[in-house]
Amino acid sequence: MSRQTWLIKKKWKQTKRNKKRAIMEKIILRDRFFCCKMCGVVFQDFSTVTIDHIVPISKGGTNDLGNLQLACSDCNAAKGDKV
Ligand SMILES: [Zn+2]
Repeated sequence: MSRQTWLIKKKWKQTKRNKKRAIMEKIILRDRFFCCKMCGVVFQDFSTVTIDHIVPISKGGTNDLGNLQLACSDCNAAKGDKV
């Protein structure tokens, strides 16, 4: 386990869990890193993290884990409805 993964796990324990966080945790465990998939910025805290749909729901995307990635709020806002 990398130090970053360990730090994430520590942060998780300090954070009240909810559904969004649970999904994020799965994505982090899958991707093994905690940064924006689009611009590569490393997240410092959870408040700036958003869950991005690779294929937007409005374009027929699903809520499957395979269609989800982490993005910073800036990138997610810039991406909007585009694939
Ligand atoms: Zn970003």
